[in-house]
Amino acid sequence: MAPRQEPSFRESVDLMFNRAAALMDLPPGLEEKIRVCNATYTVRFGVRLRGQIQTFTGYRSVHSEHMEPVKGGIRYALSVNQDEVEALAALMTYKCALVEAPFGGSKGGLCIDPRQYDEYELEMITRRFAYELAKRDLINPAQNVPAPDMGTGEREMAWIADQYARMNTTDINARACVTGKPLNAGGIAGRVEATGRGVQYALQEFFRHPHDVKKAGLSGTLDGKRIIVQGLGNVGYHAAKFLSEEDGARITGIIERDGALFDEDGLDVEAVRNWIVHHGGVTGYPDALHHAEGAAVLEEECDILIPAAMEGVINLSNAERIKAKLILEAANGPVTAGADEILRDRGVVIIPDMYANAGGVTVSYFEWVKNLSHIRFGRMQRRQEEARHQLVVAELERLDRYLGDAWSMTPDFKSKYLRGADELELVRSGLDDTMRIAYQSMSEVWNDRADVEDLRTAAYLVAIDRVAKSYRAKGL
Ligand code: GLU
Repeated sequence: MAPRQEPSFRESVDLMFNRAAALMDLPPGLEEKIRVCNATYTVRFGVRLRGQIQTFTGYRSVHSEHMEPVKGGIRYALSVNQDEVEALAALMTYKCALVEAPFGGSKGGLCIDPRQYDEYELEMITRRFAYELAKRDLINPAQNVPAPDMGTGEREMAWIADQYARMNTTDINARACVTGKPLNAGGIAGRVEATGRGVQYALQEFFRHPHDVKKAGLSGTLDGKRIIVQGLGNVGYHAAKFLSEEDGARITGIIERDGALFDEDGLDVEAVRNWIVHHGGVTGYPDALHHAEGAAVLEEECDILIPAAMEGVINLSNAERIKAKLILEAANGPVTAGADEILRDRGVVIIPDMYANAGGVTVSYFEWVKNLSHIRFGRMQRRQEEARHQLVVAELERLDRYLGDAWSMTPDFKSKYLRGADELELVRSGLDDTMRIAYQSMSEVWNDRADVEDLRTAAYLVAIDRVAKSYRAKGL
């Protein structure tokens, strides 16, 4: 038998889509309309750097405009190409539908190694890229709203927002043209950590479903679970930090570009992150076992594996040897379609990317709404809360009189109510609710339908059904 061929990333997404669509009863033609990418724009532009002109290639792909604006990050990496950007744009469509963020799907990318440029050079490159996209409405608060992704962050988003504002001086909603901005440039509290927080909330919700936990061959709660994280970037770092500091999980492995660290007793995430920031990698970290061959640690014994870096890291070449019982896809597309099949057959449960990493776009949605409403989150709510607090205070005083010291929760409860909900609290509770509700919609399909074997197919079923409904309601 000829060795199995690994499909491209976009083909992999399409194969997973097809698996779900085959279980649906979509009108003829609609299935294809939803699956295909509507348009991909390629731009090549020159920037004069260090005395010479350098040409850069960038993309912005729009997968589905069943809702507008379309939404999705901009990635800076040398590996960026059209196939990748289209796969990522498609995933954005399904992700937004699953968590009910009212957006279509889009994604952008620039072929660049950002580490090769200084800040000033990156600003020039980013502004020029933003200009090229904005003049074609591929950055626009009503049509296409980018956000951070691999290789970009708050800094790049602030440059993009400023570039758009300069080009559209009369657009009062200019700030809503991009999300993931710094707080002082129209950003929202909790956006930087949002994807990692979402990963934490996703796992918390999974462990609230004992039946699902059992399907993965696990039991109990997150407390004491051994977790291996691949990639300690923004998403992996925050997920590992919150899960170890707040849920009692043990981060036993951390895989980075230059190797991996392993410690059965659990790694100190903050210390490892500091080491990476100062030394550029995990090599030389003194307090753990170092493996030069990082990828091998993906195959180590653990309860939960969290790939939080690149697509395609779990593929036909290693899927058989993965020992984790549960895989949470914090990255987009870390498991190829072929590996997905192997893992499914082996009973490994996968919490799919379109759900697991949706925390980012969820909080992006809050930021976009905040920008359009021109009001700081928490301000309106605080007024309402205050009126309610007057009643609560009277009630508390009455209870105080009756219960006195016996009412141990009084100080905490009082202060929380008196303070009112601030922006970060609202963002966190909104994200938590979103992750709970989306999990429940997925899990229900997984458990109720005998023909749905896995959470990914369930997620696609929920997402495709919502996109199809939107097309049916509005027309093509
Ligand atoms: N790049 C992130 C993602 O893949 C965030 C997208 C957004 O906030 O629009 O979901």
